[in-house]
Amino acid sequence: MSQFVVGVTGGIGSGKTTVTDLFAEKGIVVVDADLIAREVVAPGSVGLKSIQAHFGDSVILPSGELDRANLRQRVFSHPPDKQWLDNLLHPLIREQMLLQSSSASSPYSILSIPLLVENNLMSMVNRVLVVDVEESVQLQRATNRDNHAVGGQQNTESTIKAIMQNQCTRQQRLAVADDVVNNSKDKSELIQQVNRLHQQYLSLASIR
Ligand code: ATP
Repeated sequence: MSQFVVGVTGGIGSGKTTVTDLFAEKGIVVVDADLIAREVVAPGSVGLKSIQAHFGDSVILPSGELDRANLRQRVFSHPPDKQWLDNLLHPLIREQMLLQSSSASSPYSILSIPLLVENNLMSMVNRVLVVDVEESVQLQRATNRDNHAVGGQQNTESTIKAIMQNQCTRQQRLAVADDVVNNSKDKSELIQQVNRLHQQYLSLASIR
């Protein structure tokens, strides 16, 4: 059981996955909020059944999976439905995040939550680690990644800019950070910072 949970957050393209992959290489269990958000609406889940009962069969694809584009459209044009959906999904996601992080087999665990600050989830974790980078670098890396993506996320530069504008600012994130990874340089710099943080988290976890 892992009682010490580090929340990793950062803006789009800041390097959260790159950083959490480095912790995972050290055997640390990483729980990804985005993956959990998919799991709680997987075919057969309580989440998907509730959504189907509320919105009807039109939000279900022939494969039995959630038609995300359709649902997004529905809630975008009708705020009470967005509220209903958030009220359903947020507790389910939080419950799974807590369950998976607290039952992790590593000395501490990591919860990767892109919108940790926006959704005020700081109390879910023992420590907040912010992956920080200049906005211009963030935009350039995210655009470059999505231009080369095969399937999956393929956001255009203007979509990435719009997402950045909807996320909180670097300053707002840094204001709640216990630790900061500066990801403006190359990967070897990142590895050194993660090594230091790993030692720090091992000792913090051992005295809990
Ligand atoms: P998202 O919020 O979109 O999921 P993220 O915060 O998880 O993004 P990553 O996917 O880890 O960010 O990184 C974004 C892109 O930048 C990736 O293509 C990654 O390989 C690259 N990248 C990350 N860190 C560095 C670095 N230090 N130097 C160069 N490229 C980097």
